[in-house]
Amino acid sequence: MSVAARSLSPLPPVERVRPGLWSVPVPIPSSSLRYVFVYVFETDAGPYIVDTGWNTDDAFAALSDGLAQAGTSVEEVQGVLVTHIHPDHYGLAGRVREASGAWVALHPADAALITDRYEEPSDLLGRVGTLLRRMGAPAEELASLQNASMPVRALVDVVRPDVLVEDGQRPELPGWDLSAIWTPGHSPGHLCFWEPANRLMLAGDHVLPRITPNIPFHPQAGADPLGDFLRSLHKLEGYDPDEVLPAHEHRFVGLDARLAELAAHHEQRFAEVLAAIRAGVTSAWDIAARMHWSRPWDRIEGFMRRAAVGEAMSHLRALEVRGVVREVMGEPSRWEVLGD
Ligand SMILES: [Zn+2]
Ligand SMILES: [Zn+2]
Repeated sequence: MSVAARSLSPLPPVERVRPGLWSVPVPIPSSSLRYVFVYVFETDAGPYIVDTGWNTDDAFAALSDGLAQAGTSVEEVQGVLVTHIHPDHYGLAGRVREASGAWVALHPADAALITDRYEEPSDLLGRVGTLLRRMGAPAEELASLQNASMPVRALVDVVRPDVLVEDGQRPELPGWDLSAIWTPGHSPGHLCFWEPANRLMLAGDHVLPRITPNIPFHPQAGADPLGDFLRSLHKLEGYDPDEVLPAHEHRFVGLDARLAELAAHHEQRFAEVLAAIRAGVTSAWDIAARMHWSRPWDRIEGFMRRAAVGEAMSHLRALEVRGVVREVMGEPSRWEVLGD
């Protein structure tokens, strides 16, 4: 589907996924993802929701309408489980809490990133600049790439979590038995949730049916985000859910097959990275320019370009941890295949 056709197509409907469980699509402005699914769990005490949407009036209105279709309202929300701190998931959490008094829950690894990312970003921006030079970003693109994520800060109503949810914990949702599965990679504190009664996996951005989640190396991503992500894929094996409820695209069946596809995708990316180095391409930037993307490299701009280079870098880091390549530090760093 072309971008134009996609932006004209309507959002999916608010749906009752199972008795007492609803999916509410909330629009994301100017993104090809178009919407995030907020999942609403009915309880005797009021609704609990997983994720929220961006902090825009349109998103808040869509969430309010969706909750009304589910027979409830934003004011009645009791708890907000946030899968991770990206703006399309966490952005509206503060406003929902303000309207309802609900608690907001995050994994501690993502809670720890809030101040640097959304409140006092100048130090983080400096570290992004250093990393961009290390990855080989051309001088003329440096400033715009360094600031590429600043516009989205307006789409986040910063809120401290009231509840920290760790791996294996069961957040309070009366009548439900959700358990958290910590799946770092796409974000260091990403959480999936397992719902055993209906055998549902709420997968956030960790596993989507068609697109592969971006796993960028950046100053807040930890030492080996792609290695973390691949281990997090294994963590979901064997649950064998009847259906997967992702945060974008659409619900799907066949989780184990999708996990295998995602792992295979990254093995192919590793091969691309190694082939580039062996062909004499040595900076993360130039390696990224040689990798296959969904559109030509010269049409990948701004934040997307930074994400792509960060993705190349996360493959390099994972290969380094595996002992396959090494980084000769510099501006830019030079990557070498060991044993060649
Ligand atoms: Zn995300
Ligand atoms: Zn997302």
